[in-house]
Amino acid sequence: MYGYEILHEQIAENLINNIRQEVANQAYIFEGERGVGSKECAKLFAGALVCKNTPSAPCTTCNACIMAKAESHPDIYELTPADGKRNISVDQIRSVVTDAYTKPYESKKKVYIIAYGDDMNEQAQNAFLKVLEEPPEYAVFVILAENNESLLPTIRSRCTSIRFNPVADKKVEEYIKKNYPERLEAMDFLVQYAGGVVGDIEKILNAENFVPLRRESLEKLEALLSERKLDAYQVAEFLEENKEDADLILRFWQGFLRDMMLILQGAKNLVKSTDFIDNLINLANKTQEEKVARAIDEVLLAQQMRKRYVNLKALSLRLAFSIKNRG
Ligand SMILES: [Zn+2]
Repeated sequence: MYGYEILHEQIAENLINNIRQEVANQAYIFEGERGVGSKECAKLFAGALVCKNTPSAPCTTCNACIMAKAESHPDIYELTPADGKRNISVDQIRSVVTDAYTKPYESKKKVYIIAYGDDMNEQAQNAFLKVLEEPPEYAVFVILAENNESLLPTIRSRCTSIRFNPVADKKVEEYIKKNYPERLEAMDFLVQYAGGVVGDIEKILNAENFVPLRRESLEKLEALLSERKLDAYQVAEFLEENKEDADLILRFWQGFLRDMMLILQGAKNLVKSTDFIDNLINLANKTQEEKVARAIDEVLLAQQMRKRYVNLKALSLRLAFSIKNRG
């Protein structure tokens, strides 16, 4: 859409219409999970606001549109936490407030995208409130937030809130086809993994080791399901060696095991990991259904333990041993 990767067309359309009719507001909260597409939408919105041809903004051809697309327009600011910091600091906010009272350089508007504003502490939010209370007429603020509730009610009441929901699987599919045509064989897995949030798959799509890691995870799944004690240590070692990707490996296993269950229940046509279907049929045929079911539960438990920062080594040994037949 206008050269931007927009997943929420309807929202973008409405925002742009408001700009063209010169009825856009000065402060917005774009609420939605990181990676859901709100940031890209904010960039398009900002680009349209600074466009020189308001009745047809974003015209995509004027100087302002070109600079905005290249993220080099002097009147568009994207505020993110300073390097190594988790939150936007109160000092950063103070400099935005000061800057906001300086007229735009190029355009009629000056746009501030605050990502992610709900991570600001109360002091920073209070500093920000000052400019929201009396914004200069040319300033527009877009706060990206995962959770509206983390923003002060006094900020929320001054903003128009727009909710960005996860998109339909079909959209994620189109997105992958368009941007990652070399990854199509893992499409079903990726769509499932994304759950409507394309940002979640961006990182793994860009990872060079995605395909080899997926293959190796399948090989190690066999060890995970084996009865040999030695194999359990092999599994633990594999997770330890790939500790950066441990969550992804657990997601791979979850998907593979679910597919094995489908195969065992005679529903081969529902298998999602079509890239490895033959290997999965092989493995399923030599594994008891009861064991696959147990493995699914244990992998799920391991994923929950990861969220509670349980030591990876302890977790992976526990996982590998708990799947073995007892007795
Ligand atoms: Zn333009």
